Amino acid sequence: MIEIKDLSVYFTTNSKEWFKKNTIKAVENANLTIKENTIVGLVGESGCGKSTLGRAILKLLPLHSGKIFYQNEDITHLKNSEFLKYRKELQIIFQDPYSSLNPRFTVFEIITEGLLTHYKMNKEKAKEKAVEILEKVGLKSEILYRYPHEFSGGQRQRIAIARVLVLEPKFVVCDEITSALDVSNQAQVINLIKEYKSKNPLSILFISHDLNIISYIADIIAVMYLGKIVEVAKRDSIIEKPLHPYTKALFSNIFKIGEFTQKKEVLYGEVPGVIQKPSGCYFHTRCPLAKEICKQEIPTMQKVEDSHSVACHLVS
Ligand code: SF4
Repeated sequence: MIEIKDLSVYFTTNSKEWFKKNTIKAVENANLTIKENTIVGLVGESGCGKSTLGRAILKLLPLHSGKIFYQNEDITHLKNSEFLKYRKELQIIFQDPYSSLNPRFTVFEIITEGLLTHYKMNKEKAKEKAVEILEKVGLKSEILYRYPHEFSGGQRQRIAIARVLVLEPKFVVCDEITSALDVSNQAQVINLIKEYKSKNPLSILFISHDLNIISYIADIIAVMYLGKIVEVAKRDSIIEKPLHPYTKALFSNIFKIGEFTQKKEVLYGEVPGVIQKPSGCYFHTRCPLAKEICKQEIPTMQKVEDSHSVACHLVS
């Protein structure tokens, strides 16, 4: 469905010295495949480049280098006008249900805007679709002519989800869609996505820093550290047998039904700055297993088993 090859996204910012610019390598040489009807969970600490990667795949950010394929077609360099025909199929749900909905639009306008634009649907048909999708996300049709400020955070996020799903997309980036919600709304939103996907073919890149949510929803898990994907594997494989020391530390603390998993591994130290990343393996400043080579050479992704790849000098 979606494949990215060596995708990098850089930003430049002003430095303290007025004549200099800093380059932030937000995403570096990312490779990832998201198959049909699959949920890929993208996990990592805050600021590691997860959201940047998600937005870059949807061409919402300019690339430094790399390629994006959608259904085997190279869409990397399509102009906005050429990409428009794919926009309804490739969608994003944002983290903040407060700022992602236009406060001046009614629920009806919010949900039908895409239908009128992309499908050129008439208003009657669009209303039918809006009522249908509201039911699917657990909201009543009576709310159609109300405004976003009249709803709770959980209800707003359902409206935001309805706005995307009504377009019947093929691929959706869910960018931290539960992080602004309380625990009970988180569970409802996650189950809503799962249930929708069980009845409709949909591929998802599910971005979250919450390992429990990722472990619950994802078929495949990709782990990011300081702009690089360091491990990708099937969900059970990465939970039961993580190979990268960073993944091991992350997943040693997740909650399994009725018990905490394995032994705890503690992540020491702060995440290094994104402007001056460490040499070699970016994780070497925090890695309990770091060797001399780790400071000098950047490890590349190696396939260790079917569907399990890792970037670490000590794993081969
Ligand atoms: Fe640790 Fe070295 Fe592996 Fe990096 S390459 S994770 S520093 S052992």
